[in-house]
Amino acid sequence: MKRVYLFDEGNKSMINLLGGKGGNLSEMKKINLPIPEGIIISTEACKEYYKKGKVLNEELRDEVLEQINKLEKLTGKKFEGEKPLLVSVRSGAPVSMPGMMDTILNLGMNDKVVENMIHLFKNEDFVFELYYRFIEMFSEIVMGIEREKFCKLKENLSGKIDKNFIEKAKNLYCIESGEKFPESAKEQLFMAINSIFNSWENERAKTYRKLNRIDEDMGTAVVVQEMVFGNLNDESGTGVVFTRNPSTGDKEIFGEYILKAQGEDIVAGIRTPEPIVALKEKLPEVYEELLKVVDILEKHNKDMQDIEFTIEDKKLFILQTRNGKRTPYAAIKIAVDMVKEGLISKEEAILKVDSKVLPQLLHGNFEEKALKNAILLGQGLAGSAGVAIGRVVFSSERVHNKEMTILVREETSPEDIKGMSIAQGIVTVKGGATSHGAVVARGMGKCCITGCGEIKIDEIKREMNINGHIVKEGEFISISGYTGNIYLGKLELTEPKFDKNLEEFVNWCKNIKRLKVRMNADTVIDAKLGKKFGAEGIGLCRTEHMFFQDNKIWTIREMILSCNPKEIDKALENIHQLQRKDFYNIFKIIGNDVVIVRLLDPPLHEFLPKEQEEKEKMAKILGVSLREIEKRTRELKDENPMLGHRGCRLAVTRPELYNTQVRAIIEAGIQCKKEGIDVKPEIMIPLVIGAKELLFIKKNLIKEIKKVFEEQNMEIDYKIGTMMETPRACLLADEIGKEVDFFSFGTNDLTQTTMGLSRDDSVKFIPKYYENNILKVEPFMTIDERGVGKLVKLAVELGRENPNIEMGICGEHGGDPKSIEFFEKIGLDYVSCSPFRVLVAIVSAAQSYIKYKN
Ligand code: PEP
Ligand code: MG
Repeated sequence: MKRVYLFDEGNKSMINLLGGKGGNLSEMKKINLPIPEGIIISTEACKEYYKKGKVLNEELRDEVLEQINKLEKLTGKKFEGEKPLLVSVRSGAPVSMPGMMDTILNLGMNDKVVENMIHLFKNEDFVFELYYRFIEMFSEIVMGIEREKFCKLKENLSGKIDKNFIEKAKNLYCIESGEKFPESAKEQLFMAINSIFNSWENERAKTYRKLNRIDEDMGTAVVVQEMVFGNLNDESGTGVVFTRNPSTGDKEIFGEYILKAQGEDIVAGIRTPEPIVALKEKLPEVYEELLKVVDILEKHNKDMQDIEFTIEDKKLFILQTRNGKRTPYAAIKIAVDMVKEGLISKEEAILKVDSKVLPQLLHGNFEEKALKNAILLGQGLAGSAGVAIGRVVFSSERVHNKEMTILVREETSPEDIKGMSIAQGIVTVKGGATSHGAVVARGMGKCCITGCGEIKIDEIKREMNINGHIVKEGEFISISGYTGNIYLGKLELTEPKFDKNLEEFVNWCKNIKRLKVRMNADTVIDAKLGKKFGAEGIGLCRTEHMFFQDNKIWTIREMILSCNPKEIDKALENIHQLQRKDFYNIFKIIGNDVVIVRLLDPPLHEFLPKEQEEKEKMAKILGVSLREIEKRTRELKDENPMLGHRGCRLAVTRPELYNTQVRAIIEAGIQCKKEGIDVKPEIMIPLVIGAKELLFIKKNLIKEIKKVFEEQNMEIDYKIGTMMETPRACLLADEIGKEVDFFSFGTNDLTQTTMGLSRDDSVKFIPKYYENNILKVEPFMTIDERGVGKLVKLAVELGRENPNIEMGICGEHGGDPKSIEFFEKIGLDYVSCSPFRVLVAIVSAAQSYIKYKN
């Protein structure tokens, strides 16, 4: 196995092996861009490192030394030589994980090299600064010595960094680690590689991977690259530039730089950088060259690029390029613009957008009216678009997912990643538009304001002062990632709306996709919203949810708890009237599209009265004693309510219930037809376990439907189908499929019944399954392809024995991009999901189609 590559030996298609950084550097080398030479230790070597018990084996060491030899020849510099080779050592996973892993600069420095460097550069201050930085970074990253300790040392020694200062720093290293500072460049390099491999497993990297669903086993590559010195003199510097504005998507270069600085200064947000356009005046030739490189890189990679560069004595070097993180708004604008510019095809544009961040676009902006009267507290930089409202919290640990919060920090560090992911929005006092906070928030599609220097945080009092206003932790603020404005209190939000670019983009997706996207909607409000987002009818109307609104819950309770024929008849008639009206209203909105109505499936424990007051009210409604209600409630209690008297079990024991619902559906449909609306109701039976059960219920339903047709002297088209929610139903899908017009996989219950995991309770222990790598994804969010998915696939194959059958899915997985990919692969006809996820589903369906069409 080859473990170490020269830049010359790689290219962009080798990103899985060389990491994003390594692959892109190799590619830049291929197209002759100015990049410092280097070598890449592959992700395979990293995997081997973990497999063999975290040791750098002899083969790897030998290969590294062999390639360093070649690097020395290529650069004309040598480790510890007269013209010394100094290198940066950086992590570089196949997927971008900004700031999550470690970097060491200026490696190769020792006491002898310092002398040679001074001789070469004739600048002692610069050389000692390099040496000191190296010791500090190496100590922190390789030995875990806190940077604070070095800051204190710096404070105590105030003044120029010189030989004596370096001795003190090395002493500190020695005291803290119990070892002498390594003088050999090769030893330094091996120690650094070792610690970069280890950083793959640090807590913040693990959290980032979990949040972004990045494969734990991917491993990181290590890039060892010849140093160029942005801190050499006033005509040197370092910066980051995006080929388009990552916040708005506008076609203009966007970024910042600092003169006389090294790379880390800019990403860490410690020194405030200048906007990139200012470079035009300071170093016009470099600026012109940078513009050319930016253009080449965007055209070559056919995507917006995030580029790191260093200028050494007026000479430009590119250190890294990658596809830039961007706000959802910018993602759509860039994709649409690039198609119009002829840079990419529509299909390429669709694949570029991460469908998971789209919901952010649906959360709108602040109401104009509300802004007029709002109290503006201050303003920072618009770091990441969107708006957010929440209670101020000054520490990531105190961000809770039960409350809407805005995390306000001096500056964010990778340790804040968890808090950032839960908070509604983020504000930082320091840091520019490319600082850690902004980059990570943008990636999360989360509203963020950076660099709001008007804020003074008092950690002890847990309050902040913005321009004289004191805001205490727990008070509400509203923030805008479009303007950088921070307001007091809660501002009203606008209705989500499509802008032109999004509309155009979604239209492309609609035209390309094969899967239909329907919505799970139980109310008129849901139906209107989903329709606006482009849902093609309703894939699941949960009739029991219709009773959650207003005071309707009492009607269903009355039905569940009624015993004698008189009580039952009264309860049924109430349900009939209520539901007919509800169905009519929904049918009218959906018009000619499909509405799949699922017959009652109430796990009884969710509906029975629990509190004393509720029981008393129930007793009054039914006209019986409180004791009688308590008795009936006790009798109805299931030990395993999810496997209890629910779904079509109710229809087997009490057929009149489904008959009433079907009557309401058909009557509402006929009423619509009379008004000229060609409705398409489809009736769905939940939780079936076999064909005999289904036929028993279906026979009753058809009898009732015929009755209604006769009474009304009019007929409408309708279909009868079933949910596939039990393993037995999937195994016997050929038998069931012959008897129905459609299958709809209820993957919430199917996951529950297949895995034997309760959909309500498993959250208590399932996190341990991820921690211990037993499960990779949450099975109730992303379909467990290997297990539950296998059953779905089998049922699809068996069910297709009925050539006219339609098949879809209406569990939560219907709005999950990864699951949608699976449903495309196995040839379902539609997915159905909640209205806010319809857009994600449309885009994911188009992406899946493009990926698998061949
Ligand atoms: C399902 O089980 O996947 C489903 C859609 O039904 P419910 O969530 O209502 O049980
Ligand atoms: Mg279900």
